[in-house]
Amino acid sequence: MSEPLLNSNPTSRSSAEDEQDYSEDISLDNSWVPNEKRPSCMRRYRKWIITGCTATVLSVIGIAIAMSFSGNSVKDVIEEGTNKDSSQSWVYNQQPTRFLSKSSSQKPKNVIMMISDGLGPASVSFARTYYQYTQNQPYDYEMPLDKIHVGQSRTRSSSTLVTDSAAGATAFSCNMKTYNGAVGVGPKKNPCGTVLESAKHAQGMLTGLVATSRITHATPASFSAHVQDRDNENAIARQQIGDNPLGRSVDLMFGGGYCHFLPKSEKGGCRSDSRHLLDEATSKYNWTTVMYNSKEAFEALPSDESILPAISLFSSDHMEYEIDRNPQTQPSLTEMSKKALDVLYKATENKEKGFFLMIEGSRIDMAAHSNDAATHVHEILEYQNTIELVKKYVDEHPDTIMISTSDHETGGLSLARQVAKAYPEYLWYPDVLTKVKSSTIKLEGLINQQSTLTRDFIVDIVLKDHLGITDATEKEIRQLMKKSNLDKYLAEMVSIRAQLGWATHGHSGVDVNLYAYGSGSEYLIGSHENTQVGEFITKILDLNLTEVTTRLNLDNPSFHINNLTEKGKLEYNEELQHYHHVPSNLKHQEL
Ligand SMILES: [Zn+2]
Repeated sequence: MSEPLLNSNPTSRSSAEDEQDYSEDISLDNSWVPNEKRPSCMRRYRKWIITGCTATVLSVIGIAIAMSFSGNSVKDVIEEGTNKDSSQSWVYNQQPTRFLSKSSSQKPKNVIMMISDGLGPASVSFARTYYQYTQNQPYDYEMPLDKIHVGQSRTRSSSTLVTDSAAGATAFSCNMKTYNGAVGVGPKKNPCGTVLESAKHAQGMLTGLVATSRITHATPASFSAHVQDRDNENAIARQQIGDNPLGRSVDLMFGGGYCHFLPKSEKGGCRSDSRHLLDEATSKYNWTTVMYNSKEAFEALPSDESILPAISLFSSDHMEYEIDRNPQTQPSLTEMSKKALDVLYKATENKEKGFFLMIEGSRIDMAAHSNDAATHVHEILEYQNTIELVKKYVDEHPDTIMISTSDHETGGLSLARQVAKAYPEYLWYPDVLTKVKSSTIKLEGLINQQSTLTRDFIVDIVLKDHLGITDATEKEIRQLMKKSNLDKYLAEMVSIRAQLGWATHGHSGVDVNLYAYGSGSEYLIGSHENTQVGEFITKILDLNLTEVTTRLNLDNPSFHINNLTEKGKLEYNEELQHYHHVPSNLKHQEL
């Protein structure tokens, strides 16, 4: 049995010193080890139902009766809504009969929306099995997400059965299905108000975005910007700092991607115009903290509202994969989330209004695009670390709900693979992945840097040292010497040895898991359209997306994407039937 991977990997652990700093509030350690197993609310209730524990049931009924007189329950909030956004009927029509706690759920003050980009159900099993194997845990050991599983999210977009991240995130942020590539715009390409924008402008809440991708990438962008094409990241960055009809909607942005905030004349900048958006953020849009490329300065930031609004970006492009990450220069997803939660908590603790925070494990998806199994598993395990952190936050602040789901699955991973004509054995090999030290995209870069590529470099450095492969065939080595398609080829060499199958280098159309923890989470039980996740947030925070949508479409001609029509103002889901079963979407590609 190999060494516990999370414990031995310096990049996935904070130093003892760091842990001390964090000890005041929420600790960053992996306390989801079995000894500290704590039954989640979901598990507790299931147990109650199954065992029929009389005393507990009676006390819960008592609490339920008491709460029914106190008002302010989630159910009340949900049933009271009268605006357009409240007419999404599934939320309040759903009877959470499986849960005895429905009346005891308080209206949450804070919502933490967590998105595991590209994490499908097979990948959840994959990471759990890997963790059990490497940490020598029993077969029934559960990961942080396993304990709070409530249902599924159905992911198709308005344009195809397989969504992309832009349409996937816009379903959560605007409560509407839209076409692949759409960032915060509906199927007719008009801007749609998002839950983040409404939380900020209608409710006066604080808002934050944390991501390991470029912060201008599809998922964070879909909560904070409106463009017809996700690739227009220069426009997304401009809108994110506040150059849009609503003004600044985001109070905190931690992640990668300063590229689109800086002109090409600056190192790491890639704007085609000469705007320096990080300077403008301070001079024109009143951001207090604007920093990039400085983990040290980030750590030194006080964890209170004095830093808000705050931008801290750690890389020109996406942040490093967890497996490759240098902890001296870039924080982990958990570290960024910890800082965001500390700051947002301090800034709202004595206020009536709370915060909306979106946290994305962005690169789970990207590793799966490469079919890079080891990198994929490390991204998932780090996301699980962040989930544990946020669950602790919810435990300590019961006025908070955390929702976690994926926009879609990536890679079509299967935990099986037939590698020969003979009927396959029923297994896959986690140990193959424990030997992998680097992402295959990083190794591709390493190989391409060699002015003279030698066979020894491929065999001894790339394959043996970085991937733990000592049985490469002549054919494989010859292929690598050609320097073509290296990332995917190296990933395939690992996957075939681990007997893991992949269906695609793209996304797939399967339902993804839905998780929730905290006040009101029982309303998310079952199978939902992805748009219903946004509807739930809208309802529970008493948001009004129609109002924001109207404001976005009103006064600013430069921002208008299409001419505004009365019908176009409200591109909500009742119009969706037009987008179903469009024959042109069903045409088959030529093989
Ligand atoms: Zn993707």
